[in-house]
Amino acid sequence: MQHEAAIIAGAGPIGLACAISAKRRGLDPLVIDAGALANSIVRYPINMTFFTTPERLEIGDHPLVCAGAKATREEALKDAIWSRADLL
Ligand SMILES: Cc1cc2nc3c(=O)[nH]c(=O)nc-3n(C[C@H](O)[C@H](O)[C@H](O)COP(=O)(O)OP(=O)(O)OC[C@H]3O[C@@H](n4cnc5c(N)ncnc54)[C@H](O)[C@@H]3O)c2cc1C
Repeated sequence: MQHEAAIIAGAGPIGLACAISAKRRGLDPLVIDAGALANSIVRYPINMTFFTTPERLEIGDHPLVCAGAKATREEALKDAIWSRADLL
């Protein structure tokens, strides 16, 4: 049986932040999710705009780039950390 040093249940913003933090500490965490990466954001209403400004939505120092003052669901799904498997 394979043993993981760290298993993180849920690939939402918190789970991904934990995974990045664990990797920076030399662990190789296994992240599992019952749905898609960032499933809650996938399920946001179409064209929804975040109420939070983008610099407060950074995960693992990866910026959330958006055209306006606040990111839309579509911009978040396109650009955020969960769309960059190479960074996870
Ligand atoms: C419409 C809407 C707009 C929002 N706008 C903002 C905003 O502008 N700014 C802001 O700061 N917050 C906003 N939020 C809140 C924000 O989405 C949440 O605070 C954030 O997603 C919480 O992150 P989390 O990782 O704790 O949980 P979640 O994002 O809920 O992630 C949990 C993950 O765990 C997975 N999971 C659940 N159960 C299991 C299981 N048993 N096994 C495996 N995986 C499981 C889920 O599929 C999911 O991917 C908004 C929320 C909604 C609904």
